[in-house]
Amino acid sequence: MPENELLKRLEEIEEQLHFYRQLGVDFLVRSEEKKGDEEKSSSSAGLIKLEPAIENQTSLEAEWEKLIKRIKSCRFCPLFQGRTQAVPGEGSYRARLMFVGEAPGRDEDLQGRPFVGRAGQLLTKIIAAMGFSRQEVYIGNVIKCRPPENRTPRPDEIKACSPYLLRQIELLNPRVIVTLGKVATDFFLESDKSMSDLRGHFGQFRGIPVMPTFHPSYLIRNEGNRGIKRLVWEDMKQVLKLLETS
Ligand code: SF4
Repeated sequence: MPENELLKRLEEIEEQLHFYRQLGVDFLVRSEEKKGDEEKSSSSAGLIKLEPAIENQTSLEAEWEKLIKRIKSCRFCPLFQGRTQAVPGEGSYRARLMFVGEAPGRDEDLQGRPFVGRAGQLLTKIIAAMGFSRQEVYIGNVIKCRPPENRTPRPDEIKACSPYLLRQIELLNPRVIVTLGKVATDFFLESDKSMSDLRGHFGQFRGIPVMPTFHPSYLIRNEGNRGIKRLVWEDMKQVLKLLETS
């Protein structure tokens, strides 16, 4: 097959897989009659399989690199038009602890890194207080491109971008996820409750404990309120306890 046709076909497959993920499909079942042939060809099976079970370090890194490349060139929702660059996330590919926020802000959009503005500096301090460095955990967002004027991401944008976060979770398989703010919390634990009611209580997402807590920017907006900071720290202590006992 000529190279341009092959590239076009690969793009079509990629879009198709994206669509399947949007529907909530986690894997594709191989037909029995094709199974024998595919087992002979591991490369063709690689296009079909979506499961995360990657033990080999090189393969894991390759999968992450592939994902990051896709995010950086993604045009699946209108937010690509206003971005300086997409912000895939960063940290250890073996992290047991994952933080998920809402979306990149101005500083993140400019630098291509998550949580690097004022809220990010506060998050870094919280992580350090827990005894970790940023390189030891994984930090990401529900949405990978900055919404205009930092507005709240729309449901259609969250839906379009969700396969990337789901794939990050598959690859990482973290022991615990901390959601920062309502948008991230709703992504994992759909609920009508307020953050004040949700925070401090573990929920579950596909078997992974999820601890909702306030977004660092909320702490900044309520800088004089030490009670809110204390609540966040109470939540983090629960997370640490869970990590210690598992
Ligand atoms: S926000 Fe997500 S879906 Fe939209 S263009 Fe950026 S990476 Fe793609």
